Amino acid sequence: MANSNIGVLSCSGEECLGGTISRLATRKMLEELRKDQTVTLCLPLYLTGGEEERAFAKEYPVITVDGCSKCCARRATEKYSGKVSATVIVSHILGEDIALCKTVSSKYLTEEQYKMVDKVAAEICKHFDKIVSK
Ligand code: SF4
Repeated sequence: MANSNIGVLSCSGEECLGGTISRLATRKMLEELRKDQTVTLCLPLYLTGGEEERAFAKEYPVITVDGCSKCCARRATEKYSGKVSATVIVSHILGEDIALCKTVSSKYLTEEQYKMVDKVAAEICKHFDKIVSK
């Protein structure tokens, strides 16, 4: 295996379901799906100059997970650390109507919305495994 550490960086979208799903799918990578290989990076810290975060993203592959096509996580990573290895955009997977919906608190997510988290996490896994196999 060429890469034992892969960063997964979620946007911090607090205003729409897409951001919530991005964060939950990223957590699922870290805690369940690829738990010994995933490193998550904190976007707010990254933006405020977190040296460790930026250095990691320069050195290791990073998958960004964004709630919508504004791609805040990808743009920030590419601005400070260079090209990302893959991008997952929730609105491209689930559609804009769902991603931009205003249900944001994970407290109120329905079973169906948790399945959406699984779908996005599965997409992250696909990219993850492709990077690992290189
Ligand atoms: S990518 Fe979209 S959902 Fe995520 S922080 Fe940016 S505007 Fe919000």
